[in-house]
Amino acid sequence: MTTCLVYEKQIPISPPASSRQVYHRLVYLLYCSRQRIGYAHCERSARAAKAESNCMLVYEYKVDATRVQYARMEEAIRVGQFVRNKCLRLWMDGIGVSANDLQVYCSQLAKDFPFVACLNSQARQSAADRTWQAINRFYQNCREMKPGKKGYPRFRHHCRSVEYKQTGWKLEPDGRHLTFTDGCGIGRVRLRGTREVASFPTIQIKRVRLLRRADGYYVQFAVAVERRVAHVATGRVVGIDVGLMSFYTDSNGRSIANPRYLRNSERRLRVLSQRFSRKNTSSLGAKKPKVNHAARHRAKHNKYPPQQMSYAATAETTPASILFSPDTPPPGNGMKRRSHSAKWQRARIALARKHLKVQRQREDFARKQASALVSSHDLIALEDLQVRNLVKNRRLAKSISDVGWARFRHWVEYYGKLHGIPVIAVPSRYTSQYCSQCNRLVAKSLSMRTHVCPTCGLILDRDHNAARNILARASASHSASAQQLRTVGHTET
Ligand SMILES: [Zn+2]
Repeated sequence: MTTCLVYEKQIPISPPASSRQVYHRLVYLLYCSRQRIGYAHCERSARAAKAESNCMLVYEYKVDATRVQYARMEEAIRVGQFVRNKCLRLWMDGIGVSANDLQVYCSQLAKDFPFVACLNSQARQSAADRTWQAINRFYQNCREMKPGKKGYPRFRHHCRSVEYKQTGWKLEPDGRHLTFTDGCGIGRVRLRGTREVASFPTIQIKRVRLLRRADGYYVQFAVAVERRVAHVATGRVVGIDVGLMSFYTDSNGRSIANPRYLRNSERRLRVLSQRFSRKNTSSLGAKKPKVNHAARHRAKHNKYPPQQMSYAATAETTPASILFSPDTPPPGNGMKRRSHSAKWQRARIALARKHLKVQRQREDFARKQASALVSSHDLIALEDLQVRNLVKNRRLAKSISDVGWARFRHWVEYYGKLHGIPVIAVPSRYTSQYCSQCNRLVAKSLSMRTHVCPTCGLILDRDHNAARNILARASASHSASAQQLRTVGHTET
């Protein structure tokens, strides 16, 4: 108990954490303090997962199938979700549940529920793996005392994908047809895409993921292959400063315009979401219920008898096939399950597709810019921005999310690794405030776009000045680390 108290003092408990979350944190820390093996296991599995993800190429195809096949894919995704939620429940209710326990529980679930047995056994294990990843991340955040919420794993209600490992599917030699061979009955589907995944030996295809997006179903093949690109040395180094006015400005003063995809699509998105909100949610022909602010406020003061078990509560424990078969009466308090109207569905899909398009545009732009930047330089310096904290600014959050700095940095680092060039992130403190020529602090607010140094008389664009500072900092740290390496090498010989 004393140990518990000691740990309780050390853990910064944020107010939104529920008692169950705090309980799990305490149990885990206590467990780790007694058995160091707990730490080692978690770290090893995280490292193994990272190493695995480093050398995987993902090939994506769109799926062409019949309406029945789509329904079966949906069923397979739902069974995966069921396994995940069950595993999570096992971990929540037990003490010291390990990753292996979840794997064992999968086969137990297959015995208990016939619809779970239909899904391929490795796909079930994969669902358990994903659950453990979520649990592990929660543990990791607790261990590192990450500020704010710790990411306590939650039940999923709208899973979008199911993952097969190396069995349960068969790729035809033409690379254009895939057959799912497990009990879910999806069968043979056609793949649409330009990549040649069939050129790899089947043994290298480690994962086959089936996923749903707003515009249809997709299949992803994760291939274990190391991608290599020979970098042509250019002798150029660059520092970049990302911003909202321009996408980025480099230390040579070149800037790339911010495409503002979300802002450009906002008008259309507004129309689509308005249409969506005006559609009737029910196909029973009833008038759309009024849910304005006043109605919600009135409803708060209404006195109803306590409700019986709701539909959502029973959904977790009832097998999916019973739950969704048309001839079983809906569970709960006899309330009829409302199906959404066709117009509602159409409006929902139109809105979702538009959002998907914006997301794809942004991703594509970030990727192309990163690729171009890396292939034309030998060293790239950028700011170590904490985007998570920056988006807390309510006035700028939408613009910051729209520009997509984190994705851009992700791709710069990815291509940097591919080309074997150093990508250095430097602390972002005061990069725009110091003068890049005489290193003197020249305070300026966000609205001042030009840097004017009173000491040395340097006049530069604000972002250009910041980019030069970033490059200077990175060069200093890079040459210091190179020096250190050289010294170590010297003493060894
Ligand atoms: Zn100066």
